[in-house]
Amino acid sequence: MPEETIFSKIIRKEIPSDMVYQDDTVTAFRDINPQAPTHILIIPNKIIPTMDDVNEADEQVLGHMITVAVKIAREQGIAQNGYRVLINCREHGGQEVYHLHMHLFGGRPLGPMLAR
Ligand code: AMP
Repeated sequence: MPEETIFSKIIRKEIPSDMVYQDDTVTAFRDINPQAPTHILIIPNKIIPTMDDVNEADEQVLGHMITVAVKIAREQGIAQNGYRVLINCREHGGQEVYHLHMHLFGGRPLGPMLAR
């Protein structure tokens, strides 16, 4: 069994979060340390530690994360001007929490892809 992180507690509502969406498959909540006016994390309810642990059986979950991100971006009013989604993988990707998560950033021009 993959190890739980703080995100499992957020999914089960054992610790507080600013949750914006939840269904049987995914949960979305505001990042505690926002890097943009809108910064939301979209995560699978099942534990997938990293992008490198994704396999074909997860395709529906990953696809659902994308459609939920689209829905949230529209609801948050950032779709028209545009936004960025990002998944960090392991050390070189800068991953801190080992429960797969998609960042959704928006609300201002986000600048170049990578910090220089
Ligand atoms: P990453 O570097 O891609 O692993 O991103 C982890 C993100 O989780 C960071 O942006 C953190 O600010 C965020 N984070 C960590 N703990 C919490 C929490 N309890 N509630 C909301 N966001 C969190």
